[in-house]
Amino acid sequence: MGITKGTKKELEEMKKRLEEEIKEKEREADEALDKLLSKRKMDFCSRCGRKISSANEWGGKCLHEGCEELVCLECWGSEEKRYCIKHAKEGERGKEAREDEIKSFTLGYMDFIAERLKKHKLDWSPKGFISKVNVKVERKRYKEFEMVVYEKHFFSKIPKIRIFVRPVSMGIEAEINEIIENADEDVYHVIIFVGSTASIKEDIKAFGEKFSSKNACLFLIDMESSKIYFNLNEKNVGKYACWFDPKGVPKNFAEVLKEISESVAGERVLDVKKFAEEMGMTHEESFDMLKHVKFLEEVKGAESFIIKLKD
Ligand SMILES: [Zn+2]
Ligand SMILES: [Zn+2]
Repeated sequence: MGITKGTKKELEEMKKRLEEEIKEKEREADEALDKLLSKRKMDFCSRCGRKISSANEWGGKCLHEGCEELVCLECWGSEEKRYCIKHAKEGERGKEAREDEIKSFTLGYMDFIAERLKKHKLDWSPKGFISKVNVKVERKRYKEFEMVVYEKHFFSKIPKIRIFVRPVSMGIEAEINEIIENADEDVYHVIIFVGSTASIKEDIKAFGEKFSSKNACLFLIDMESSKIYFNLNEKNVGKYACWFDPKGVPKNFAEVLKEISESVAGERVLDVKKFAEEMGMTHEESFDMLKHVKFLEEVKGAESFIIKLKD
């Protein structure tokens, strides 16, 4: 018995339907692929809406957990913009949290340095020795903190060192200029910026490591990982850092000199040439600095001094 006409027709119709279904599926797949391709070709930053034309212009994915939105490289450069527009608020909260953190580090450092300088006598700066030390916190407020080391005289006190503590920010150069602009040339200025590891960015660090001035030094203090940054080429600033580094052991001028001196016939003798070398100063600057030190006795014609101190 052959296939009936009716059955044959049914089979043909079924085949046709199947073919149509397959075509429809192929069309859907093509459309999806087109969509995907066009999306790859013209994507937009989920933060700023900027059109992105190549894959290396992407910075990363929105930091909100589970969010797949992409953020362009330019937005990614700013920590609070590492969120898509929908999650932008989280970035703002993050920024506030980071500012609070820097503030608490700075306040902590202000307390630390005030305590340290009350306990230990800071009796020198790269500009010279201070014979009778008097320390005062002149400005206590956050962002304005200033401490002054005076030299006491009979009827007066002369400012010798001014110490400024500020939270680290993008505008440290302007703040430094403001301090130095109004600076008294006879005073040595210690400018300290305090922050977290992330807030002391590479360009700030690079600036700090290049800063050089006869009347000032700059310290960047990362309270999060206990690191201090300054210009390593300035040897006297390097010796001075122990006072401002929370991990450092403060050394007064006599201790600094004793380390450089040598024992000769029962006396501690300080060679001017060696001092100049250790401090990265000229012979003349060194001689000027040392001849004003009360506990040093010059050895005429020998370019050296004897340290006269009762231990
Ligand atoms: Zn963007
Ligand atoms: Zn998001």
